Amino acid sequence: MISITRGISNILSRIAFAHTSSNPSSIRTLQTTYVLNCENTEGIRTDEKSTTDSDAQRKELTEAELKLKNKDRTQVIPVETSIRYLRSSAYQQTYGNTLIWELYRRNHKGAIPPRKTRKTCVRKGAISTGNPCPICRDEYLVLDYRNLDLLRQFISPQTGEVLSYTKSGLCQKKHLQLLVAVEKAWDYGLLTFDVPFLEFDYREYYGKNVKLAN
Ligand SMILES: [Zn+2]
Repeated sequence: MISITRGISNILSRIAFAHTSSNPSSIRTLQTTYVLNCENTEGIRTDEKSTTDSDAQRKELTEAELKLKNKDRTQVIPVETSIRYLRSSAYQQTYGNTLIWELYRRNHKGAIPPRKTRKTCVRKGAISTGNPCPICRDEYLVLDYRNLDLLRQFISPQTGEVLSYTKSGLCQKKHLQLLVAVEKAWDYGLLTFDVPFLEFDYREYYGKNVKLAN
């Protein structure tokens, strides 16, 4: 029960985030929803009429309607919104300090998972599976070469390479988009990777009595 209420509050916070990001005039009505209070906190007062209106609208959305709304992927989210989302309290509330793919688990028949993940999670503008991949399940995660906070979550800190879909669980479509975005970010110089410089003791290789040139 706690998880359900938490899920609904997350959804509501997403909706609040969407409203605040797309329409600045609606910020006034959504100030009471404790989400994104960090922005525009000064000088805004909610008048009673507008708050009651928004409450009524929110109550009209039943759980089934919310489900349908969550599965819809026809709305195009701009990258700027996604970048702001990754730094917002709505994101913190949803993922905390874990990486977005860390707690995701693929569901498959039998004990051994299929070698490849599914082709795509979104068909005809809606989520077509019960267990969409970590990027498809959250519409505010937009793969783009400018969205560095998101791309860094899929780059291995040990090797600097993009994680395989067997580890991250991304569908093939999103994995390809991820590869393109990371490659583009490297080309633009936005993402860099430095290999740690190791000081070798060459005497271990050539013997202690050999005098090295440098
Ligand atoms: Zn997917």
